[in-house]
Order: sequence, then C-alpha cells, then structure tokens
Amino acid sequence: MKQVYKCDFCYNTNENPEKILEHEKDCYANPSLKKCWTCIHHEDEGMPISGSMMRCQKGMSYDEQEEYEGNGNCPLWENGN
Ligand SMILES: [Zn+2]
Repeated sequence: MKQVYKCDFCYNTNENPEKILEHEKDCYANPSLKKCWTCIHHEDEGMPISGSMMRCQKGMSYDEQEEYEGNGNCPLWENGN
C-alpha cells in the first residue's frame, strides 16, 4: 500500500506532498481562486445530444469565461458550493 496526498478540493492525489501543494494553488475546484467551476453562476446549458455546455449566467462572453475558467479572480464570482 502506498501513502498519497490528496488535494483539499478535488480528487487529485500524489505521492509527493509538494506537488499537491503546488496543484492546490491552481486547482479548478479551489474556491479562493474564484474560477468558474466553483461559481454559482456557472450552469450547464447543454442538451443530452450535444453534451455538457457550461455557461456563465451573468452574461460573460465566451472569451471572458475562458479567461476566468482558466485564471480565476472573476469579479462576479459567488460561491456555489
Ligand atoms: Zn485539486
């Protein structure tokens, strides 16, 4: 059996705690980063036939949404957890 370290926010694990600490600073599920994935306004508008399509309900453009999904710090972010 191996001991691994787990991200506080998602299911990512690693044997090296340094790597997990690094990961947590940029984890899509870390609410302090204010990325779309933890935001209450990020909702799935997809259909079963087209698959999932997460869209900002605050009227962000696709470009803006892509930016905030990746880099976080959205001014309109609200905790959806
Ligand atoms: Zn994580």
